[in-house]
This record gives sequence, C-alpha cells and structure tokens, in this order.
Amino acid sequence: MKSYQVDENGFYGEFGGAYVPEILYKCVHDLQEAYLPIIESEAFKREYHALLKDYVGRPSPLYYAQRMSEQYGCKLYLKREDLNHTGAHKINNTIGQILLAKQMGKTRIIAETGAGQHGVATATVCALMNLKCEVFMGATDVERQHTNVERMKMLGAEVHPVRTGNMTLSDACSEAIRDWCCHPQDTFYIVGSTMGPHPYPDLVAKMQSVISEEIKWQLAEKEGRDYPDYLIACIGGGSNAAGTIYHYMDDERVKIVLAEAGGHGWDTDYTAATIHRGTTGILHGAKMLVMQDEDGQIQEAFTISAGLDYPGVGPMHCNMAKKGRTQVLSINDDEAIYGGYELTRMEGIIPAIESAHAIAALKKLSFKKDDVVVLTVSGRGDKDVETYLKNKAMAKEYGNF
Ligand SMILES: *Cc1c(COP(=O)(O)O)cnc(C)c1O
Repeated sequence: MKSYQVDENGFYGEFGGAYVPEILYKCVHDLQEAYLPIIESEAFKREYHALLKDYVGRPSPLYYAQRMSEQYGCKLYLKREDLNHTGAHKINNTIGQILLAKQMGKTRIIAETGAGQHGVATATVCALMNLKCEVFMGATDVERQHTNVERMKMLGAEVHPVRTGNMTLSDACSEAIRDWCCHPQDTFYIVGSTMGPHPYPDLVAKMQSVISEEIKWQLAEKEGRDYPDYLIACIGGGSNAAGTIYHYMDDERVKIVLAEAGGHGWDTDYTAATIHRGTTGILHGAKMLVMQDEDGQIQEAFTISAGLDYPGVGPMHCNMAKKGRTQVLSINDDEAIYGGYELTRMEGIIPAIESAHAIAALKKLSFKKDDVVVLTVSGRGDKDVETYLKNKAMAKEYGNF
C-alpha cells in the first residue's frame, strides 16, 4: 500500500527534512528523538484528550448542512472546528505541543503568528500551564489584526513586532527561528502549521489528526460507513487540511480537494497559491514548494486572508499534490467572500475567511446526489466581519446577498 506518511528521515517523497543552522542541530535532534515516545505514551494521551474534551470542547460537531446540500446536490457535512475554544483548529496543536514542551523540561515558549490565531492559541495554553510566552508577529499584521494582539497581551504573552522583509508571517517565522537559535536550551518553539524542520510537520499533523479520527466515528454513526466520498479543506501551511485527511490519506476511495488562496488569481503577481505557483526550495527549515524568483528570493504572498498568507506550504501536501493524491484548487478573494456570505445566509454560520475558501471550492466540483462530502470549517469568522462587509461588492458577480 502506498503511504503518504513521513519516512524515518523526515521526508515526504522529495519534500521535508530538517535544514537548520548548526546551532539548532542538537535541539531539533532532541525533539526528533523525544516526540514519538512522549506523544504515544498513555500518560500524554490521557492528559491531551482530557483537555481536548473539557477545555477545547471536543468532539467538534459533524453537522449535516441541509440547505447547502440541496444547493450543491450532495450530502454535505461540516466539521465544526470553528466551535473550538479560541475559535479555530489551532488549539488542538498548541495543547499537544505545550504538553510536549513541559515533558521535555522547557520553561520558555515562543511562537510565530500571521493573523494572530496561532499566537492566541499559544498564549492561551501558556496561561493555562503558567509558562512564559513570546510571540513574533510581522509589524504589518500587528496593525491589521489588532484585536488578536490585544487578546495575546491580556493572556500574558509578550508580542514582538517584526520589522524585517514584508513584515508579515514569513518574516515572523524567520525571527522566531532566530530567537530559538539564541535560546536553544530553555526554549520550546510551538510551530503553528505543518511546516518547519522535521519533526514539526509530522508532529502538527498528528496533533490535528483528532479531526479525522472524529470524522470516522461520526460518519459511521450518521451514514453507516466511516469514510466520505470527498474531503474538502482550505490550505495555508496545511494543518487543518492534514488533520482532516490524516486517517484517509491512503484510502483511495476518498477524494481529497484542497483550496489554496488565489488572491487576485494564481497567474497574477498577487497570489498565495503556492502549490500552483511554487517551485522546490528550502524555507524555514524544510524543502517544500515556495514562491520564489529565479534567484531564490522569496516572493511576497498576497491574499485577503491573513491566515493563508504564506509563500510556502507544508511538505506533506507538496508530496501528495505532486503525486496526484490531492486535487488543489486556487480560490480567489472574490470567490472566498462569496463563499463566506453563502454559508452565513444559508446555514447561519459565519466562517473564517480562510475556511470560506473551502466553501467556494464546492462551486467548482460536481457531485452525485448520494456523495458524502465532509468540509472542514477551520475557524469562525468573528475576526473577519469587517473584511466581509467591506468587500461585499467584490462577490456581486456570483449572486446577491
Ligand atoms: C491559521 C488558519 C488557517 C491556515 O492554516 P493551516 O495550517 O493551513 O490550517 C486556516 N483557517 C483558520 C481559521 C486559521 O486560523
């Protein structure tokens, strides 16, 4: 059987690995040695699942969306990660990594953040565990995601605005890695997506795999079979997508459709559609598809969605897309805005603008009436209401709201 899982050297096909400066070798190696024995131990699993249940509010519902099902001629289920504590899937991962950090005896936590969702999820678990938390965030994002900055501060985290490069997520990652190099002894870097050097992509995928673990028994309950015909998720770095597909990667009965952020269009200069546009390169410690020029200079990502604004994409997804296991669609800003309004008006659910990219993918697919489709709503849209209202006119050509 084909496996899309990571190999013992941290590669997914040609992608992945651990390309880190020498000063981090020991640190990354220690983590590679420690992570599986710890996360597979009974004590870890007990504490992790207890927190997911009573603190995060899992299992998240698998909701049959009746009106949207009629609209698209299929049986559409929404996996409601938007209902988690802090409003997105990110907390599944930060809970796992903070427990790992504690087991490894680390006393200081750092994280990068773009829209601020991962920063908030990290600051939250640091408050819970009484650990010092410092978050690196591009100065541009600090400005445009002000509420999340305030949430992090209230939770007790220190937010460092990063003023290098384009002052967005990619620069925040570089700065977090730089900080880690200066404090390899006491510091644990909580990475927010399926990116970074091995073992992070695998670690994050495993922490998010609770999503597909639940989909399996929830579908068995509702449909009498534990697999869908389609899985749909949005993809930035790839963590909610990895969690959604984890238990189905090698199950060829299940079609996988991922929606990346096209911005103004994948063939324009204003895009974050990394799988459409990227070429193989090394970014933030791993080999992956990267948007870069001929000299290897990283190109700025552009999308209306701050959470998808990254010029790379996790190695697991690079490999699966390249091998044809996943179908990757590029969803433009206007299509995502429309998708967000559509879900809001038809089901009364305001999705994060990131998740709205997955909703918009429905329009580009054709289903059979009995097809069971599971779409992950990665987060809630409270943070994006202003963006939706301001950009409503953009979606006019697809219909009126
Ligand atoms: C961060 C975020 C994403 C993108 O990150 P992935 O690692 O690709 O999942 C998507 N949706 C929401 C709500 C987010 O906060």
